[in-house]
This record gives sequence, structure tokens and C-alpha cells, in this order.
Amino acid sequence: MQRNSKGMYDVVIVGAGAAGLTSAIYAGRKKLKAVLITGPNVGGETNSTNDIQNYPGYEGPGPVLMKKFWEQAKKWGVEIREQRVLRISKAKDFLLELDNNEKIESKTVILSYGRERRKLNIPGEDKFFGRGLSTCTTCDAPLFPNKETAVIGGGNSAVEGALELARIAKKIYIVHRRDVFRADEVTVEKAKAEGKIEVLTNHVPIEIKGDKFVKSLIVEHVTTKARKELPLQGVFSEIGWETHTEMVKGLVDVNAVGEIIVDAHNRTKTPGLYACGDLTSIPYKQTVISAGHGAIAALEAYKFVTGSKGHD
Ligand code: NAP
Repeated sequence: MQRNSKGMYDVVIVGAGAAGLTSAIYAGRKKLKAVLITGPNVGGETNSTNDIQNYPGYEGPGPVLMKKFWEQAKKWGVEIREQRVLRISKAKDFLLELDNNEKIESKTVILSYGRERRKLNIPGEDKFFGRGLSTCTTCDAPLFPNKETAVIGGGNSAVEGALELARIAKKIYIVHRRDVFRADEVTVEKAKAEGKIEVLTNHVPIEIKGDKFVKSLIVEHVTTKARKELPLQGVFSEIGWETHTEMVKGLVDVNAVGEIIVDAHNRTKTPGLYACGDLTSIPYKQTVISAGHGAIAALEAYKFVTGSKGHD
């Protein structure tokens, strides 16, 4: 691995969703020597909604809002790189190993790379993704007017997603692997009372079938092992999220669902290492909250680097 020729950074921001881009704006305005490292999905999870109604001062498509964040971050002169961080370690300062065989040194690091949707790991999942299989009911329900659909999962996303689909689709199965739901009781009751929704508890998805597009979903009863083939055109996988923390192993603590634990200043357990956005233990995964915490993380990094008392 080669050392980066640009020398020590004040802050490396890993990930360019609402949190990371806000950190970049704040770091740039504080004139920190900063680099934002991101994969191709600039904008992150906010890109997956086409109708933001709860970001104060803005209503409209998520990607448009994220483009504004991106332009604003670039304006403040933060270096931007499209790369992957493989590992972060700390001696006196932080050392980040990148996928191009390079090493970057920094006084502080802000983790803002979000989380990933869990996969079903069943046949047909990769083949039909975007061809009838979606992981975002909120984004894609309008594509299934008068169609037959299934939502997999038993959490709020799945059950609320099924209710959303009921306004558009002809038929909705909720396929849930247990008979107890994680979703709020009132939401489950509402779904059970909705005539278009058929709830299949104790069923797991086995295979998504079709030709060019989805044509059916095979499900199996968890105890009897009886299988059914549900003829349908749309499958929504709403089975939750995974937060990847292998690259910062030992530097952060995680909670029961794997999120990085931070305090009210977005500090992890390692001095100089901050986290913000959907990968943290902070509740309510919302763009406005990610942006706010991205700002806190950058101001904390500034305080750490300069020794200033900051904005307490
Ligand atoms: P979640 O609460 O983690 O639920 C995921 C669901 O998928 C669970 O029912 C789980 O089953 C099931 N599941 C997981 N892996 C599976 C697999 N391989 N095959 C089949 N089923 C699988 O995820 P979420 O619904 O996306 O919600 C995430 C968080 O956002 C939650 O805290 C939720 O309350 C919140 N949220 C809130 C709102 C709201 O307040 N309006 C709306 C949406 C989401 P088990 O139950 O058996 O584990």
C-alpha cells in the first residue's frame, strides 16, 4: 500500500448521503483539510424517494434535494474521491486503507456510509430486481396499478408498504415468517381489515419466478412445509437493514441491531471518530436528522482538530 502524497488530513468523511454531504459543507466552511470518500450512489437513501414532504424548505424528489447538497459540498472546496474504504485503524492518528491500494492519514474520521437493505438470498432475487422485485414500496408502489403483489416482512415498512399498495394494486399478500409482527399493532389491524390484503403468516419466500418480469412467488409454510405459488407481478422485499461495521472493528460499539453507538455529539467510543446518519444508533432515519447530525459531527471534528471550544 502506498501512502497518500497529500499528507495528513484533518478529516476524512466516508459516505456521501445527507449526513456525509452536510459534514462536507461544514468541514469546508471551517477550512478543514477534508476529503469525502464515496461510492457511486451519491445522495444515499434519500435518492430512493420521489416525494419528500418533510424536509423543511423543500418538497419534491429526493435526488433533486441530494443534488443540491452535492453542489453545495463541492462549492466549499472539499476534495472528493470515488473509492471504497476497506479498513480504518488508529495509532496516534487514523489510517484508512482504500481499494486502490492507497493509505490515507487523518486526524479525525466521520463515518456516514449508511446501511444496506437485507437480502432475501433466494433464487430470482438478483434476476428480477428492478423487473418486478423492489426493495422500496414507497418508491415503486405506483408502478403496480391494478396488479397482484406481495410484500415480504413483518415490520412497519412491510405493513405500511402493503397499505400503501392497497391504494394502487388489486391484491397484496403480506408474507411474514412468524405470526407476531414487529409493526405497530394499529398498522397490523388496519392491514388485516383491508379487503385487498391477505396476510400469510408463518410463511417464508422460497423463489421468485418469471420470464423477463416477475410472474409468481413461491412461499413455504414454516412448519408444515406446504408450498404455494402466488401468481403476481410485483414483489416488495421490506425485510429491514444491515449496518456494516467490519471496517471499523474494535473502534466502535454497536447496539442490539448492529448500529454504531454515538453520544449526543456524534462521538463513537474512539476519540476523533464520529458517526452520523442511518448507520448510527440515533432513532428516526430521516434526511433532516441525518443532515443535522452530519453538521454536529463536522463541528466536533473541527473542535478535535483545533482544540477550540466550538459551539457547545
Ligand atoms: P424491521 O423492523 O427490522 O423488520 C424487518 C422484518 O423483516 C421483520 O419482520 C423480520 O422478521 C423480517 N425479515 C428479516 N429478514 C428476513 C428474511 N430473510 N426473510 C423473511 N423475512 C425477514 O425493518 P423495517 O420494517 O424496515 O423497519 C426498520 C425500522 O424503521 C424499524 O425500527 C421500524 O419501526 C422503523 N419504521 C418506522 C416507520 C414508522 O414509524 N411509520 C415506518 C417504517 C419503518 P422477524 O420479525 O421474524 O425478525
